[in-house]
Amino acid sequence: MAEPLLRLDRLAKHFPVGGSWIDALTGKRSHVKAVDGVSLDVRQGETLAIVGESGSGKSTLGRLVMRLLTPSGGQVLYKGRNVVAMNRAELRQFRRQAQIIFQDPFSSLNPRMRIADIVREPLDVYQDGARADRPGRTEALLERVGLTAAHGRAYPSELSGGQRQRVGIAAALALSPELIVADEPTSALDVSVQAQTLNLLADLQASYHLTFVFITHDLGIVHHFADRVAVMYLGRIVEEAPTETLFREPKHPYTRSLLSAIPQPDPTKRVDWQLPEGEPPSPVDPPAGCSFHPRCPHAMDVCARQAPTLAPVEPGHRAACFLHQPAADSAPQTGMQS
Ligand code: SF4
Repeated sequence: MAEPLLRLDRLAKHFPVGGSWIDALTGKRSHVKAVDGVSLDVRQGETLAIVGESGSGKSTLGRLVMRLLTPSGGQVLYKGRNVVAMNRAELRQFRRQAQIIFQDPFSSLNPRMRIADIVREPLDVYQDGARADRPGRTEALLERVGLTAAHGRAYPSELSGGQRQRVGIAAALALSPELIVADEPTSALDVSVQAQTLNLLADLQASYHLTFVFITHDLGIVHHFADRVAVMYLGRIVEEAPTETLFREPKHPYTRSLLSAIPQPDPTKRVDWQLPEGEPPSPVDPPAGCSFHPRCPHAMDVCARQAPTLAPVEPGHRAACFLHQPAADSAPQTGMQS
């Protein structure tokens, strides 16, 4: 099989929290394990959705991929090269090929710059192509995302939320990247504008054969957009599968609960999976064993003692759950809840 465009290898990011300076010096400080040993492959030209609740670590994961954060451990391999170990010049080249689209299209745009200057800025920074060609290329980028030259003369405050997100997308496309990390690109938009923006992203992905890492809290919107889905819970991937498989045969109880929260257009199609009880536990002090066990309707004794690994349940489908893999110890597994 071809080498993946992007490989995350046991990637981790632990943030220190609270504690005195003595605790910091003696290493006793608590840590939030925002990302805790994530291994994932992203193939050239595919869209991988990373889905999870707020606090699951999915946005931190996106920033680690772009090296906007330095990992506490593990590697980010882009075309086989470790992004974490890249020097300044190598990182500059990597950032030509990998771009990020942020959630909030307003705060990510410089309010004092005209839209055309924002879209053109990456071309100027990288001295990409002839200077004389850049205004025309900028106009073509604006057109490609459904904006006009008149929008180019405006300031961000003069555009709607959806138009601003299109500006962010145009700027991300300027250097013809191969990889785009889209961090909740539609969650700040109205529902009708969300659909238009998703359609635009899908169209661009197909036209330019882009590779997308699409980060979202909303499993519902990825169904017709993503090729594969990875579900995150408290810093770890708990299930990963092709999108159709995940929607048809989810294995992990947390994935099932996320699916059950998606409104069904057909009311005769009942979903019997249960929503998880309570809020996610604190990532500062996550539960021992399977971190989902306090909320899991299928939790067994072993789930509080051991953490399941992300293991294949069938080709291309992995899940971290003792319902689908034997526990490492031989203690009898009695039901805590049915
Ligand atoms: Fe539930 Fe146990 Fe599976 Fe965790 S390992 S999801 S607690 S059944």
